Amino acid sequence: MALLIVGANVVSNGERLRKTFPKNDSSIFERANLLDMQADKAKFASRFECITNPELMDKQVISCLIIGSGPAGYTAAIYASRAGLKPVLYTGPEPGGQLMITNDVENFPGYPDGIMGPQMMEDLRKQSERFGADIRSGMVTSVDFSSFPLKVTVDEEKTFEAATIIISTGASAKWLGIESESRLNGKGVSACAVCDGFFFRGQDVIIVGAGDTACEEATYLSKLCRKVTMLVRRGEMRASTIMQNRVLSTPNIEVLWNTETLEILGEEGVEGARVRNIQTGEEQTITATGFFVAIGHQPNTRIFNGVIDMDENGYIHTDKVSTRTNVAGVFACGDAQDHIYRQAITAAGTGCMAALDAERYLSSIEH
Ligand code: NDP
Repeated sequence: MALLIVGANVVSNGERLRKTFPKNDSSIFERANLLDMQADKAKFASRFECITNPELMDKQVISCLIIGSGPAGYTAAIYASRAGLKPVLYTGPEPGGQLMITNDVENFPGYPDGIMGPQMMEDLRKQSERFGADIRSGMVTSVDFSSFPLKVTVDEEKTFEAATIIISTGASAKWLGIESESRLNGKGVSACAVCDGFFFRGQDVIIVGAGDTACEEATYLSKLCRKVTMLVRRGEMRASTIMQNRVLSTPNIEVLWNTETLEILGEEGVEGARVRNIQTGEEQTITATGFFVAIGHQPNTRIFNGVIDMDENGYIHTDKVSTRTNVAGVFACGDAQDHIYRQAITAAGTGCMAALDAERYLSSIEH
């Protein structure tokens, strides 16, 4: 079997492999390095066979293990299962991800009448299962990518081995943490102006935050809404000058400096907010039907700290126009690696890319 011969050659002559393959084929080089460290040739050969033989695959090494169940993870599962990789997907602590707290999704192509976020995630799940994806409840609590096969531990107790890993753990919006915010979440409180701004066209809204996201979203909302009140907790913004200037020169955006939110008002929907000037202590009530929180996002990548290259905010680095990470066989997609677009459709797009990258990677080590 060609596959096993390759495995044996690699183990017996990693150096020759390095010289034979082109210098830019980093996955082969990393694999050769690993193989030099692995003493047990027979063990490797049998595991490698498992990866490429669907009959043996599930029993031993999972060919494609997907971590996270938002649009990126489910789309990766659809593509990977259709490619015959028999993917296993662990849903994580919030199955379905951020869309589970989104009501109407009106900007995902293919739904002319819109769709509820939870329904869309259910549909994506069913679609992946239709092609054989194995969707499991559980949270990946640690990983070990120091040797091949890659290892993940689920719920701190079960450890699985995988040939490829797709990270689609998403990001979570940061929230103010006040009671009225969680009570009215989805009833006028939102962390995504692009997703939900349309529902407030012609109305008055409030946005909290002073970074580039808040400025960008305030500007976006100003084109749809009658008035946007922006609450900035300090006397200056963190956002880039150009973004600040855009906000400050927009007539229907009013910035309230040194202002914090005490309470979001309303029972069944947002009716306004009670705010306080931190310097003077003066309180006031602002009337609005929408309340947008734009104080940053936190990518859910903590378990990959020190293992996968990330930026200073925890977003995973991927190589050029691909989903490859710095570890061979590990791919990242969706909001875990994208702090710019953060849309369901872009997450789904990169999920597709990750599955294709994983499939190509498996083919490359096979041949
Ligand atoms: P940031 O972390 O840059 O900004 C968060 C903002 O929220 C800060 O101004 C912070 O205030 C404020 N904030 C935090 N907690 C609270 C709170 N409890 N109450 C009130 N305000 C609070 O996050 P962003 O999402 O804006 O940006 C993340 C990254 O993405 C940045 O690097 C940014 O440049 C980039 N980005 C770039 C864009 C572009 O170039 N087009 C668009 C969007 C984002 P304080 O300043 O007082 O700490």
